[in-house]
Amino acid sequence: MAKDIIKEYFACKSCGNMQFRKEYVFSIEFHSVNFSDDLIYGREREEIYVCNCCGAEMSYEQIRQGLRDTKAKHKYIDKGNNDV
Ligand SMILES: [Zn+2]
Repeated sequence: MAKDIIKEYFACKSCGNMQFRKEYVFSIEFHSVNFSDDLIYGREREEIYVCNCCGAEMSYEQIRQGLRDTKAKHKYIDKGNNDV
């Protein structure tokens, strides 16, 4: 007996395209410290996902949320593989 497989793709909300590329933004953020004139800093690397078709930008968290919304539409057995 064949198993039914349903595969759903995350699609761009603006244009429906399903392919994205990853772009990076690099920055240094300075924070003041209590009782001191010195600053501490942390480097940041942000990953932005860009729609290959219309150029809409989104974060990985937004994509994960879209996949969670898709998951919620299906009746499934939760095996605890909390990967989405
Ligand atoms: Zn798009």
